[in-house]
Amino acid sequence: MTNNGENMKVAVIGGGLLGLSLAYEMTKQADDIQVQLFERSNQPGGVAGSMSFGGAEVDRFYHCILSSDSDLLQLIEELGLRDQVRFKETRMGFYHNAKLYPMTKPLELLRFPPLRLVDRLRLAYTILHSRLFIKNWAPLEKKSVEKWLIELGGRRTYNLIWKPLLNAKFDGGFNNIPATYIWSRIVRVSSASDKKSGKELSGHIIGGYQVLAERLVKAIEAGGGQVHLGANIKEIVIENNRACGLALENGFEAFDSIIVTTPSHIFSRLIPGASQEYRQSLETIPYLGIVCLLLGLDRSLTPYYTLNITDTAIPFTGLIETTNLINPEFVNGNHLVYLPKYILPENPLARMPDSQVKEVFLADLKKMFPDFDEKWVAEARVMRERFVEPLHNIQGTWQTPQVVTPVGNLSLANTAQIWPELTNGQSVTTYGRMIARKLARTYKEENQFLNV
Ligand SMILES: Cc1cc2nc3c(=O)[nH]c(=O)nc-3n(C[C@H](O)[C@H](O)[C@H](O)COP(=O)(O)OP(=O)(O)OC[C@H]3O[C@@H](n4cnc5c(N)ncnc54)[C@H](O)[C@@H]3O)c2cc1C
Repeated sequence: MTNNGENMKVAVIGGGLLGLSLAYEMTKQADDIQVQLFERSNQPGGVAGSMSFGGAEVDRFYHCILSSDSDLLQLIEELGLRDQVRFKETRMGFYHNAKLYPMTKPLELLRFPPLRLVDRLRLAYTILHSRLFIKNWAPLEKKSVEKWLIELGGRRTYNLIWKPLLNAKFDGGFNNIPATYIWSRIVRVSSASDKKSGKELSGHIIGGYQVLAERLVKAIEAGGGQVHLGANIKEIVIENNRACGLALENGFEAFDSIIVTTPSHIFSRLIPGASQEYRQSLETIPYLGIVCLLLGLDRSLTPYYTLNITDTAIPFTGLIETTNLINPEFVNGNHLVYLPKYILPENPLARMPDSQVKEVFLADLKKMFPDFDEKWVAEARVMRERFVEPLHNIQGTWQTPQVVTPVGNLSLANTAQIWPELTNGQSVTTYGRMIARKLARTYKEENQFLNV
């Protein structure tokens, strides 16, 4: 409750998984906090949302859940969706020098022909060492990912395996990426292994994260909150260095507290009334974008959920065949193959028309699979997103933005603050809920923002 005895009005901007889980948790914290969420798109879910494709609703971008995503699974259970989750053994492969290699099991790694035995053992050591022995990741923050991987696994393994993978993931720009990134990734990927069987298990909700997003909307509304879809916030109005409300299409609405969950660059554009210095600090954080071609095929292309590509001649980052996890009957019988390319803003793909992206990617797919025939493609679509992954750096050239901003009544909770966990459904929903609890506590205790 505010000092003058009224309910506290809180606005959450952004209806991706982070904003939705934050708003949901906030409605659970106190009856006198009135939450309104604003999402510019006509559907909730953000990058984890779905779209109509080939006669079914499918993920815009490929998404899977790991059996180790315990907080996310607990949220799914709490929202009554646990019976909609399906887990399955999935496989991973490598495309190296025009050949496909299975790489799911430790033995397959130890047999990987392009590497000498000593290199394979060092690669296995890198993975085991990361999984079992590194508990304190702070020293990794000071080391470049390149230096660390060469120290552990040797230069040859680095040049043949890690370097092409890092190039593909970071669009060549990984000089400033700390070793923490690859450690965190190894730990997450290995956590997909079922402890008893050693099989790699991945899961999904039938209908994708979109179903979770819609269930979160219902839960926010059931808790007394409101969700406004198609609500593109133009500006957060700041007076005397305090956020006082939102400029909406139909006028101004006052709020006691505003929490933004969008990427930092978008946040900066929303606050022209904040200091130039603060806005610039938000804009220096580099983000990867993505260009992704989705194919709906009449047949399966590979047995793998993920195919990593170490061949630098191929322009996309990997090949994800989600229907090796999702039963094709849930997506109108199509076989879904995503060809993603993570990009920095200067990459020519950012400005390439969709028709040309499709042409280039299909030509390269044909190089990988000479039998591939375009007649197999029932539907194809290019998806793009400018800000999908904030990049963390070795130390200090850009700052992680804090939850407490220099503007009163204004907080930021976004993926740039999530580290060393990678950003995914598990980490963003856990983070969003944690921030909601902390902020609600400060509202109650002091009726104003404190450091969280
Ligand atoms: C290619 C790809 C594959 C992935 N694979 C997986 C996976 O397998 N498993 C997994 O768990 N996670 C995966 N992820 C990660 C996961 O999708 C993200 O971590 C998560 O969805 C981020 O949620 P968010 O709410 O932080 O951001 P977003 O989803 O970007 O949400 C931000 C929201 O803010 C809204 N917004 C922006 N500006 C305004 C405005 N002015 N007014 C109102 N609203 C605004 C946007 O429309 C958007 O809905 C993947 C992501 C990508 C891109």
